[in-house]
Amino acid sequence: MADIIQLLPDHVANQIAAGEVVQRPASVVKELLENAIDAGAGSIKLIIKDAGKTLVQVIDNGKGMSHTDARLSFERHATSKIRNAEDLFQLNTKGFRGEALASIAAIAHVELKTKQDVDDVGNALIIEGSNVVSQEVVVTPSGTSVAVKNLFFNIPARRNFLKSDAVELRHVIDEFHRVALAHPIIAFALYNNGSESFNLPISNYRQRIVNIFGNKTNEKLVPVEEDTEVLKISGFVGKPEFAKRTRGEQYFFVNNRFIKSPYLNHAIGSAFEGLLKSGTHASYFLNLTVDPQTIDINIHPTKTEIKFDDEHTLYAILRSAVKHSLGQFNIAPVLDFDRDPNLDTPYSYKAEGTSAPKVEVDSSFNPFQEETKSKARAVAYKKEPTSSWESLYVGLESKGNETQQDFSSIEFETEEHTASIFDEEHPVEQSNTTYQLHNKYIVSTIKSGMLVIDQYRAHQRVLYEDFLKNLTVKEAASQQLLFPLQLHFSTQDIEIINQLKADLEHTGFVFSKVMEETIDITGVPVGVPESEVSIILEQLISDVENEVPDSHFSASDLLAKSMAKSLAIKTGTVLKKDEQEHLVNKLFACKEPNVSPTNRTTFITMSVDELDKKFI
Ligand code: ADP
Ligand code: MG
Repeated sequence: MADIIQLLPDHVANQIAAGEVVQRPASVVKELLENAIDAGAGSIKLIIKDAGKTLVQVIDNGKGMSHTDARLSFERHATSKIRNAEDLFQLNTKGFRGEALASIAAIAHVELKTKQDVDDVGNALIIEGSNVVSQEVVVTPSGTSVAVKNLFFNIPARRNFLKSDAVELRHVIDEFHRVALAHPIIAFALYNNGSESFNLPISNYRQRIVNIFGNKTNEKLVPVEEDTEVLKISGFVGKPEFAKRTRGEQYFFVNNRFIKSPYLNHAIGSAFEGLLKSGTHASYFLNLTVDPQTIDINIHPTKTEIKFDDEHTLYAILRSAVKHSLGQFNIAPVLDFDRDPNLDTPYSYKAEGTSAPKVEVDSSFNPFQEETKSKARAVAYKKEPTSSWESLYVGLESKGNETQQDFSSIEFETEEHTASIFDEEHPVEQSNTTYQLHNKYIVSTIKSGMLVIDQYRAHQRVLYEDFLKNLTVKEAASQQLLFPLQLHFSTQDIEIINQLKADLEHTGFVFSKVMEETIDITGVPVGVPESEVSIILEQLISDVENEVPDSHFSASDLLAKSMAKSLAIKTGTVLKKDEQEHLVNKLFACKEPNVSPTNRTTFITMSVDELDKKFI
């Protein structure tokens, strides 16, 4: 048989490499910014169009490239930064793999202009999908400009895979922040669709953080300094009272390189132990300096993960340094960075031996047996409660007619079962057939047996459908605030709020002023307590940032989900009888009562037959 193995042509190899290096416009931003830093630039401009999908351009005043280097820089494994493998452990540059430009040029239209200080004229190069279209001599300032246009023009699948502009821009800005935070001695600017979003002059570290995250940040920062033989730490942690619900402002830089490290993140978490409200995360901006010999950066193509020789020691030093700072600034109640870790075990557990967990198996359970019954999930419940405590269930308007309409559609779907699930003679609202279990579940009697409802998920479903209705169909009523509420956010958070402003207004929010770092709110949706407003908006920003999975980023859907999540009665809340019953009724008036907005089961049923079997 003939030989079948062939070497891949360069442009194919480059495209494959691009898959690893370039996932989205933000990856291009990272690579280009890093190249500019490696070139010794003192000032770097980033220009973005359409969240980077149309254009990512980086202009620097660094050392530029010669005529030949300009051409060579697009070859794979072409780098000026290392000569041999040992150099990998002496790195003081961001790049070293020599594949970024080659990869990018394989999947975009690239225009390079570059000039060295010593030369009078520079070079311009145009490359499209790895093909050099032109190279000519041009007049251009010293330094380099790389423009990357039409990313993934030749890989439609990848292009279609990109998220909405809002999400992609978020990633771009995140990358920009990471690089800008790691290099306060370089000036950065970001222009987005023609307007300036950030202008960061050369400054010290604290000023850089404040310039990025807003003036309010200044008072929140607690300095952390530590100098040991193996690790030098400098930077800031956020005061516990300003901890956010989002994980957004958490930055580790190791030798000026942004890295992700769940392990070191844990060290910070443990230093903050006992100081944070549950569900909030401390912010931190920490620079760690270690001997380059003791780390391996080359374990990940985008170089955001690194391997430390002695992680445990770093963990301990970091934890104690942060604890020390919190203590020194009178934030932590105790200064105990030398304590015996054994003391961390609560005393009451110490004497207790461990016992193997017991698993109880119901051997008679047959998941298929009850199929028809479990299908009877949607219940038509026709009586609307009229109690005045309805304000508890914010945003719900129980105007009979409208809800009635919802019911009829439900009835249609599950006609055969509707009458049977609740016992008609004992409607839930009149009898004492609900019971709250562990402040988490509502148990209710139904004709065939019993119903167990997860109160938090159920209420989320109810609120979600209601908010969505307001957002898509009609304007919701707004409740005027006596005094305008002023909230502070970072500029990028404000940007997100601006994007969602129209939708927020549909739910009943009234913004009287949106400024660079503050917003004034004069109206909120009916039933939303003023104290919840900042929580709702923070949650919303965090959800947008984290692109809540399985949503195709419909702004109104996300908003409805997010608000439902913030406002739903939480697990652990005691519900009065009438509140329990109201929730049950509201749930079954929903279009999709059986799942929460994030697709989790809201209730289960258990028939008398099933119970009977357990008593055999
Ligand atoms: P790496 O950064 O890993 O070396 P790249 O593909 O990113 O690989 O860049 C290849 C080479 O091109 C670099 O080693 C550098 O010599 C040159 N280069 C890239 N960008 C710039 C720039 N902005 N200014 C000067 N030289 C650059
Ligand atoms: Mg590079």
